[in-house]
Amino acid sequence: MKTNVLGVQYDNVTMAEALDTARALLQRPEASYCVTPNAEMAYEALHDESFRAILNEASLVLPDGAGVVLGAKILRTPLKEKVAGIDFAANLLGVLEETGGRLYLLGGKPGIAEQAAENMKKTHPKLCICGTADGYFRDEAPVIARINEARADVVFVCLGAPKQECFMHDHRAELNVRLMIGLGGSLDGFAG
Ligand code: UDP
Repeated sequence: MKTNVLGVQYDNVTMAEALDTARALLQRPEASYCVTPNAEMAYEALHDESFRAILNEASLVLPDGAGVVLGAKILRTPLKEKVAGIDFAANLLGVLEETGGRLYLLGGKPGIAEQAAENMKKTHPKLCICGTADGYFRDEAPVIARINEARADVVFVCLGAPKQECFMHDHRAELNVRLMIGLGGSLDGFAG
């Protein structure tokens, strides 16, 4: 079920339900993408029709932040709970470790994705991180080629909004992956 906040159609899911959806999307042959708009992004989308369309075309739209949950409550269409992108990503590491899925980390300043990968391997030793790249590139084609060469199943796309959402939306047909998730500054968080 969807809940409309400022024109963004959020999935009204708990963390457990969001993870079940991710597991199902990992089984599908085509590339899906997940977005995690906070209240600021929803506000941006209010004035930017194409950004709003990209958000609403996602297979999973998660309420990242208390502001979105409060907004939904005021609008009398309450959401079950906040599902923050970084928490969702952290839980997904466990799913990938269990299933043997391959994770690619894209974004942040040079060195951040590598540091994040090192920390993720400490908490999830069996996790397969098949590649990393910083988020400051001019040309998207070599980035796409590297992700495909790495045979990634999941990509954490951490380029900030709306760059990360446009990247996932515009290139999903060229990317031979199962699921991409737009996660803003989360790699900085994992890199600690
Ligand atoms: N970033 C990037 N490429 C860019 C612009 C930003 O990789 O061209 C990264 C930046 O280093 C940071 C993240 O994207 O890690 C954006 O973080 P921010 O906190 O601004 O985004 P939010 O989480 O608020 O969407």
